[in-house]
Amino acid sequence: MKVTLLGTGAALIDPDRGHSSVLIEEGGRAYLFDIGTGATRTMIGNFIDPLSVEALILTHLHFDHTADLPVFLLGSWMSDRDEAPAIYGPKGTVEMIAPMFEGGVFDTDIRARAAYPQRQRNIGVLRPQVQVYSEGLVLEDERVKITALKVDHIPEEICECYALKIESEDRCVVFSGDTAPVARMPDFARGADLLIHEATFPEAAIAFRAKNGIGTYSHTSPTQLGEIAAEAEVRMLVATHIGHWDSTNPIVRRLAAKHLPIDIMSPALRDDVAADIARAYRGPLMIARDSTTIYV
Ligand SMILES: [Zn+2]
Ligand SMILES: [Zn+2]
Repeated sequence: MKVTLLGTGAALIDPDRGHSSVLIEEGGRAYLFDIGTGATRTMIGNFIDPLSVEALILTHLHFDHTADLPVFLLGSWMSDRDEAPAIYGPKGTVEMIAPMFEGGVFDTDIRARAAYPQRQRNIGVLRPQVQVYSEGLVLEDERVKITALKVDHIPEEICECYALKIESEDRCVVFSGDTAPVARMPDFARGADLLIHEATFPEAAIAFRAKNGIGTYSHTSPTQLGEIAAEAEVRMLVATHIGHWDSTNPIVRRLAAKHLPIDIMSPALRDDVAADIARAYRGPLMIARDSTTIYV
C-alpha cells in the first residue's frame, strides 16, 4: 500500500499543515480518508490525480476533516469525471452533503456551469451516493477491507467519530480519526504495519488547557499514544493531527494563543513529543508532515 499524508494539522488554519486527509493507494485504486481543507490541492501537488479516488471515507464531520469536499467534487465535475466517488460517513453525512450542491450552497455556480452541455453530461458527479456506516464493516472490494471502531471524540451524541482499519491481502493500516485514548484501540490496531494516530497536543499544552478550562479530553497525549502503540505492537507509528504547536508563523502563533501557551511553540517541540511517545513505544516513529509518502 502507498500511503500519502495530505493534511496533518488540527483545526487551526496553518500554511504549513493542511487539515486532516490521508490517501491510500492499493492495486491501482485510491481511497481517501477525510478531506480537510487543502486535500485536493495537495493531492495534485503530490502528482496524484483526484479523479483516481474511488471512495472517500469520513471519520467524523468536523470541518477540519470535511471542508474540501465541495472543492474536490466541483473540481472533479469540471475535470470531466464520469461518476461520483462513493462516499462513506457516520450519521449526519447525508444531511451535510445534501445542501452543498444542486439547490444548495453552490447552486448558482452549478446552474451557471450546467448551462453548457459538457457539464450537463456528468452532473451526476454532484449527486454522490452516500453510505452511512457505524461500527464494523464499512466497505470491502477485491483489494481492501475497511472496518470501523467507534472512538471517543467531542460529544458523541452530536458527532460520532470512528477509527478505520484498512486491510489488503497482506498489509494493514489503521487511522485513528480524532480521539481520546480508547481502551479497544490496541486490539483494533493489533500488529498493524502502520498506525496513523492523532496526538494533537504536547504534554505541556495539555497541562495549560486543563488549567484554563479548555477542552482537552477529546484528544490523545503523546505519552498515551506511546502506550497504545506499544500495547498494539504496531510496526510503524505516525503521530498526526498536529495542533500547530510547531508553527513559526506569527499569525498562527497569535491565533493559537487560546489553545496553547505560545511561548512553548517551536519546531523543537517535535523532539519532546517524539521522546514522550518513545517512553513506551520503541518502534519506527514519525511526527507527521504534509506530503509525506510511506510505502507499507
Ligand atoms: Zn480534527
Ligand atoms: Zn474532530
